[in-house]
Amino acid sequence: MTEAYDLIVLGAGVIGCSTAWHAARLGAKRVLVIERNGIAEGTSSQSSGILRTHYSVPENVDLARRSYAAFAGLRDYLGDPEADCGLVVCGYLVVGDAGARSEAIRASLARQRALGIDAVEIDAAQAREILPLLRTDDLATFGYEAAAGHADPYLTATAFARAARRLGVAFHLGETVTDLAVDGARVTGVRTDRATYAAATTVCALNVWSNGLLGRATGLPIPLVAERHEVIALQAQVPYLPRYPVLKDMASPSMLYARGYGTSQLLVSAGLEGQPTSPDEQQADVSLDVVADVGAQAAHRLPAFETAGVASTWTGLYDVTPDWNPVLGPLPGWEGLVVAFGFSGHGFKLSPEVGRLLAQAALGLATDVPLAPYRYERFAEGALLAGLYGKGAVS
Ligand SMILES: Cc1cc2nc3c(=O)[nH]c(=O)nc-3n(C[C@H](O)[C@H](O)[C@H](O)COP(=O)(O)OP(=O)(O)OC[C@H]3O[C@@H](n4cnc5c(N)ncnc54)[C@H](O)[C@@H]3O)c2cc1C
Repeated sequence: MTEAYDLIVLGAGVIGCSTAWHAARLGAKRVLVIERNGIAEGTSSQSSGILRTHYSVPENVDLARRSYAAFAGLRDYLGDPEADCGLVVCGYLVVGDAGARSEAIRASLARQRALGIDAVEIDAAQAREILPLLRTDDLATFGYEAAAGHADPYLTATAFARAARRLGVAFHLGETVTDLAVDGARVTGVRTDRATYAAATTVCALNVWSNGLLGRATGLPIPLVAERHEVIALQAQVPYLPRYPVLKDMASPSMLYARGYGTSQLLVSAGLEGQPTSPDEQQADVSLDVVADVGAQAAHRLPAFETAGVASTWTGLYDVTPDWNPVLGPLPGWEGLVVAFGFSGHGFKLSPEVGRLLAQAALGLATDVPLAPYRYERFAEGALLAGLYGKGAVS
């Protein structure tokens, strides 16, 4: 007999786990999460975990602001006194030279302030107080968001999953979804390598692995490419202390981002478009050219890292859409299906609120925040959520 659910969530990354918990919390009775590996073993585990509300797209500022409140008060949010997302509040320092990105920094700070966020322009001396390692002589603009930092996506996803289980959500781990079951223009459930399930609504949160499944079932083109991004951890003689801020260097050729890693290392990565690749790529080598290029840019901004050694490197996949923002909500002409793909390297910080909105949409409730700006149709309509910084993960 086919098992029937009110809601089936595909994928147990931070987005799927958040959605499942919110659905149960909103009253859904029979909720199932299907994940081919373990919780947060997909791209969530590759994430740099940065939490900021600094965006140039106002809708993203709002989602990040609402989500940050969840990270900051996760125990109350989940009703779990043991919940922990590993939050480190160290601030977010964004710097620019005299070029156009300085205007984008100021416009983004204004958009943050319009939503009540403490985001201010500071001067070079104040920036050096916050980050004594910072080279400032070639910089013109310094933006600072004190209530920002980073958290741990694995801890976050497992906290959502545990809270979801406590509300009765079932998790089928190690089970691979092979197809969506359809009847006319309605998704009626899911086929896996083990069984077929019926669902009133299916939420697809499969990240870079969404294309084939959604494309086969709906016949729609799915505007999503997998991109490889390289992350490098550097160790210098002078530590990058945990209290030092997340740094975004808009003056660097690659729009580098960096943050403390552990008690002394610096995690650094380029903030530009990455290399298109196969979603099946688990890990790729980080070439010496990339290490040299990113390392030189990091050392330019943080001269103490000129003689740093490479502690470790890894790669991760971004699920990138044409405007570097996600598609959230139904697909046109289809019922019984809600999608969430294309987070383009910035989905972790949005995951609490996005999960809530997806759950509301999936249960037929009005969403607290309109999902319309994130609709699939925006690409054909030319209503892109284009950021002021060009293509890249700040958006
Ligand atoms: C290098 C890197 C750095 C990043 N840094 C940041 C950052 O600093 N801040 C930020 O906000 N965001 C960041 N991100 C982005 C963020 O991590 C992602 O947007 C977020 O983790 C995506 O979560 P998800 O649940 O959509 O995807 P995933 O975690 O990838 O979950 C999808 C799940 O679907 C499962 N799956 C796939 N196919 C199937 C199938 N057929 N059947 C069953 N299960 C299946 C996978 O196993 C996986 O667990 C970064 C990403 C990367 C790669």
